[in-house]
Amino acid sequence: MPADTNILDNPPVDGGELIRFDKVTKRFGDTTVLDGLDFRVDSGRHVTLIGPSGSGKTTILRLLMTLTRPDEGTITVAGDRLFPAPGKQVREVRKKIGMVFQQFNLFPNMSVLRNVTEAPVTVLGLSRDEAEERARGLLDLVGLADKCDQRPGRLSGGQQQRVAIARALAMRPRILLLDEVTSALDPELVAGVLDVLRDIARTTDITMLCVTHEMNFARDISDQVLMFDSGHVIESGPPEKIFGDPEHERTREFLGAVL
Ligand code: ADP
Repeated sequence: MPADTNILDNPPVDGGELIRFDKVTKRFGDTTVLDGLDFRVDSGRHVTLIGPSGSGKTTILRLLMTLTRPDEGTITVAGDRLFPAPGKQVREVRKKIGMVFQQFNLFPNMSVLRNVTEAPVTVLGLSRDEAEERARGLLDLVGLADKCDQRPGRLSGGQQQRVAIARALAMRPRILLLDEVTSALDPELVAGVLDVLRDIARTTDITMLCVTHEMNFARDISDQVLMFDSGHVIESGPPEKIFGDPEHERTREFLGAVL
């Protein structure tokens, strides 16, 4: 990892509130996934969402990416409304947020470099030269400087996921959302991806919101762990508290099953 992580060029962290959900309700048909959720994340924090499958963790990330809309409530990012808000404002707020998915979702017909430059050119209006310089720095950061000209299909899953991380960072987001980013990987490829994310968490001020079943990773990178059950935060605290001395019976059961 190069010493110069200014490549991310995040705005200084003021520690203030960056993400705010107020009474957010989300239903799919008859199923209420989130039921009046209040949720806050301060800037620069690394927050991990844990809890049983189906408890609404991914839905929170998808709401922030505007991949789905709440039925009720408001979502605010850096003081600007993401929902409800006019389309132009939503697009501006969205630029502050990057996401890495379980399935890497790279463009298969573009080179690795092009995957990372595409959005900065088309969405942010960077020149191709500027975007390439930024992309090469980020691909170096994730250990893939020598893969710029390859197509994603020729890379391992772990390498593809590291390209996806570089692609998300190329937009210089204030917030990085990570949705079970190692779940689709062969076990021997998991560590390389988590090491890259650990370095990013350690050396940058980017705010991270992470859904993961990798509890050791969660313990390493998180300032705060939120335990979800049925769309509610039932317990939250620093990782040493949640993993070492959980208060809630459901948390103990869940950790007993996954650790
Ligand atoms: P988690 O990330 O905690 O596993 P999710 O947020 O993915 O939970 O899902 C919460 C619930 O919402 C689940 O019951 C899931 O089946 C349901 N759900 C999520 N997305 C959709 C969708 N697009 N259509 C219908 N149901 C959905």
